[in-house]
Amino acid sequence: MAELALCGRCNRKLKDRKSLGRGFGPVCWQKVKEDKVVGKSEQGSTTGRSEGA
Ligand SMILES: [Zn+2]
Repeated sequence: MAELALCGRCNRKLKDRKSLGRGFGPVCWQKVKEDKVVGKSEQGSTTGRSEGA
């Protein structure tokens, strides 16, 4: 076994091929997906910053 990847979230060793491909364990992958959905609303440059003018 030359490949040894760690979960990008909890740094645990990934032994499943699926997890290795994602870079996250099954549990953390769910969290990552959830985070992505939540962080989506952070996009958009609609800051009510009215400076100057
Ligand atoms: Zn993990």
